[in-house]
Amino acid sequence: MPIVTTRSVVLQTYPYSDTSKILRLLTLDHGPQSVMARGALRPRSRLSGVLEPFADGTATFYFKPDRDLHTLSEFELARERQALGRDLRRYAAASVLCELVLRLAPAERDLELYGVLIGGLDALLEARPGSVPGTALAACWSLVDVLGFAPDLSGCSRCGDDLSLREGGLDVRDGALVCQRCLPGGRVLPPGELETLRRLAAGTAEGPTPSSRQVHLLVEFIRHHAAEGIRLRSLDFLLAEEVR
Ligand SMILES: [Zn+2]
Repeated sequence: MPIVTTRSVVLQTYPYSDTSKILRLLTLDHGPQSVMARGALRPRSRLSGVLEPFADGTATFYFKPDRDLHTLSEFELARERQALGRDLRRYAAASVLCELVLRLAPAERDLELYGVLIGGLDALLEARPGSVPGTALAACWSLVDVLGFAPDLSGCSRCGDDLSLREGGLDVRDGALVCQRCLPGGRVLPPGELETLRRLAAGTAEGPTPSSRQVHLLVEFIRHHAAEGIRLRSLDFLLAEEVR
């Protein structure tokens, strides 16, 4: 039974018994893994209060290759991010990031994905109040991009027309930008909004605050394309506490 030590982000936790909890982790070296933290809910456990969602650190666990659940022995905290839970928008966006990773992360080591997730969580934690909406969208889009689901925002995907000065729409099913001729009746975005989307998609959170239309577009895109129709609970929060 090999012992594994690897950098990890806590994506999700749930109690297993009165005293233990199960953690869903994104590990740097072994992709997503589930571990059991025995005794973590005991008040005097050294793991008590450490193993919360959005935290990262170095996890050591007994890795059983043929099992879905491994046994955590140590977790050395690098950064806790419990402050994300005190702001609904930050919390919702951080939850979207973690849910996307839970559902879509590849099984193997993915250094870039790990970095984008940590970077997104830190950006949400550190964003000034006015820049939370832009930070949230940029972080979500960057993650969707590194997971391989981001749409091409350069021009119409069907006729090739440059859309830098014209309005366009997003074909959610194809995950692609299309011009009005190719997709009549679709949701229209004027050139300025497309430019903002490109900026956010490039991971730049600074600039004009995203419109609610852009938030809806991103959420709709993730829901129908990246999440393959799976209902991401945290997406509902992002819409409920609508980003202005
Ligand atoms: Zn076209």
